Amino acid sequence: MKAIVYDGPTQMRYADVPDPVLSGADGAIVRAAICGICGSDLHIYHGHGLNTTPGYVVGHESVGEVVEVGSAVHNFRPGDRVIISASTGCGNCHYCRRGYSMQCTDGETGGYGRGGSHGRHGASWGKGMVLPGLQAQYVAVPGADANMVALPEQISYEAAIVMTDSAPTAWLAARHVRIVPGNTVAVIGLGPIGQMAVMAAEAMGAGHIVAADTHEYRRKSAERFGAETATKDTVEALLDERTAGLGADVVIDTVGSESALTQAMQLAATGGRVAAVGVNKEGRFDFPYRMAMHKGLEFFVGLTSVQRELQEILPLAAAGRIHPEWIVTHRTGLSKGAEAYSLIEGREDGVLKIAIDPWS
Ligand SMILES: [Zn+2]
Ligand SMILES: [Zn+2]
Repeated sequence: MKAIVYDGPTQMRYADVPDPVLSGADGAIVRAAICGICGSDLHIYHGHGLNTTPGYVVGHESVGEVVEVGSAVHNFRPGDRVIISASTGCGNCHYCRRGYSMQCTDGETGGYGRGGSHGRHGASWGKGMVLPGLQAQYVAVPGADANMVALPEQISYEAAIVMTDSAPTAWLAARHVRIVPGNTVAVIGLGPIGQMAVMAAEAMGAGHIVAADTHEYRRKSAERFGAETATKDTVEALLDERTAGLGADVVIDTVGSESALTQAMQLAATGGRVAAVGVNKEGRFDFPYRMAMHKGLEFFVGLTSVQRELQEILPLAAAGRIHPEWIVTHRTGLSKGAEAYSLIEGREDGVLKIAIDPWS
């Protein structure tokens, strides 16, 4: 089959790789309908990935149709439309049973393992050889009952590709900071996850939603989801205007840099709640402890367990109350995968999410 493989920094190649085979009685094979590139794949593209060995298939976003299931798969049959969860777990361990597939301790099929990303990172899609990535025509899904979610027929594959990772990550943030009707919500960074954070805030009944990004095309898109927008330099003034200087009840940062995280805490009102779901390259930042203490802030940071969040997102999408597909700005073929990476990298041509057809 065809796939995109990592050959070295900024070297993504359209390649022939072996067809996947069932990983066991609990596995399934999915014929991909659309696959996607996540912002976090850019770290791999730059050679900053957790695994820099060339030759592995990249990506963790795919949706499609089941073509084969093992004898121990109970919930799926060939022909079923599915979302493949970007976070994989065994479905049986302490964490998986509580909905934290991202913290699965199994190590074979499972997420990041005990102790976070130290040491067990092989067992997640597209970060090495253990679980090959999903920018490919077919996918072997281990633990299929735990790692696939049935896609209701009302939901398009284009909406579904946004729900493999971007929408659940935003939903995780919005849920943890408990947006309640009328809350003022600020969102920092309007890539796909920021767009979905605006969508989540709107769905949860936020009052004012104020969102910041440098790029005008991203601000325009967020306005469609219900936000008023500003740049990072003007967002505080806009927020002050909307809240008589009190600040935001809830701030969601999707950028992850020290300056964005610090600004998130500055924008929060006294007693405010801040969620961080961006990738922080350094893995640490200078926490403004005194400000957080004086304001009495809550701070949440985490990675999404997709299956958990989809329980709430899918019914909203099926009912047409949320529109994740609005961020699909481009469509291309897998054979143009390398160009798709550089398009996203350059933030060119108004790109948010590219729906990649694995068959062209
Ligand atoms: Zn991702
Ligand atoms: Zn597990």
